[in-house]
Amino acid sequence: MRALAIIVAAGRGERMGAGRPKAFLPLFGEPMVLRAARAFDAAASVGVVVVVVPATEVEAARGLLAPLSKPTTVVAGGERRQDSVLAGMKQAQGGFDGIVLVHDAARPFVEPALVDAVAQAADAHGAAVPVCPVVDTMKRVRDGCVVGTLDRDDLGAAQTPQGFRFALLVQAYEEAFRAGVTLTDECMAVERVGGTIAAVPGSPRNRKLTTPDDLAWAESLLREEARA
Ligand code: C5P
Repeated sequence: MRALAIIVAAGRGERMGAGRPKAFLPLFGEPMVLRAARAFDAAASVGVVVVVVPATEVEAARGLLAPLSKPTTVVAGGERRQDSVLAGMKQAQGGFDGIVLVHDAARPFVEPALVDAVAQAADAHGAAVPVCPVVDTMKRVRDGCVVGTLDRDDLGAAQTPQGFRFALLVQAYEEAFRAGVTLTDECMAVERVGGTIAAVPGSPRNRKLTTPDDLAWAESLLREEARA
């Protein structure tokens, strides 16, 4: 399988409060976008990599990602995450009918085995997403008050990479853009047009780094691993 991997790294990362796009912050000496891209470079299922970055970072990212061994393209992203994903999808070769994997650079600890598991499940079922069990009791909160409890056994926390047959994601994106829907992940678009989305086991390590606390967790994990 020669999947197209799209790594979106064009967010401003305002919740990180670092003054620089978070994907470019050094994490134990290596920007998270590079750490994430290495996993896709190493995954057997991936043929080409597209990395989507803020327009101001395109040149810097090309230099940063030059050591990757697979064909890698860097393009500028858009205003919303879904605009950045669309910019990545436009890099697909005409007639491409393989699997597309969409990954948040904000999850730099993704492992090649998870990338391959998602790609294989997407190939078999049309779409696939890594999901982790929810450990907290989940409440519906409205105007500062709890109004209900969700059945935890029915819930899962979705991660990336999410994988799709390319034509399915194109159709789902067209529909979502036509309807003016704001997407927080690609599955959300595919759910709207029906079809099966396989859930594969996610990984606690594949955590999304959003706040300075997450960055501190990541640094301490890497420090521990360097010591071991
Ligand atoms: O904002 P959020 O944490 O949901 O972003 C998830 C991923 O989407 C991040 O890797 C971020 O860089 C990317 N993103 C993007 N373009 C945007 C907004 C977010 O590539 N306009």
